[in-house]
Amino acid sequence: MATLRETGVGILNAGEDSHKTFCAIPWIHRQTDEQGFHQLCAVAVGDGNNLSNTKGERLHISQQLTDDEFLNSPQVKAVRKQMMRGEWPAACDRCWQTEQSGSTSIRQHLNSQFGQDPQALLRRTSEDGLLDRPIVRFADIRLGNVCNLTCRMCGR
Ligand code: SF4
Repeated sequence: MATLRETGVGILNAGEDSHKTFCAIPWIHRQTDEQGFHQLCAVAVGDGNNLSNTKGERLHISQQLTDDEFLNSPQVKAVRKQMMRGEWPAACDRCWQTEQSGSTSIRQHLNSQFGQDPQALLRRTSEDGLLDRPIVRFADIRLGNVCNLTCRMCGR
């Protein structure tokens, strides 16, 4: 399957608009909610945040999925495809609203850590969003709803 480098379309040549929607998370992140169901990310919203396989079955940590099965699930592929087109996925509405209000979104924060070289990620991505050799670099696995009150993110 042709990659973006080969086809010359998408974020590599699409100009400023696509850079405004690129987020590294759908390329490198693995997330579960407190019940063990896999999600796109902790701040995504709606049905697009709930990951499933091609049969429509929710993805769960008990299935011991490979990085490929997770990062190439239909929803994650669709989000990558939209971002490469310069579109905002519906699941990313919270980041969009944050940026519209003039604040720094989680997308911008995480891109500064994991998305400094988007082209390295895009070279392995086909036009339909399929990612070649997926590797999770950042995981947020929640094994329950008990909080130990020591997480810096909550500021408690
Ligand atoms: S843009 Fe925001 S909501 Fe979407 S994947 Fe990135 S961090 Fe998550």
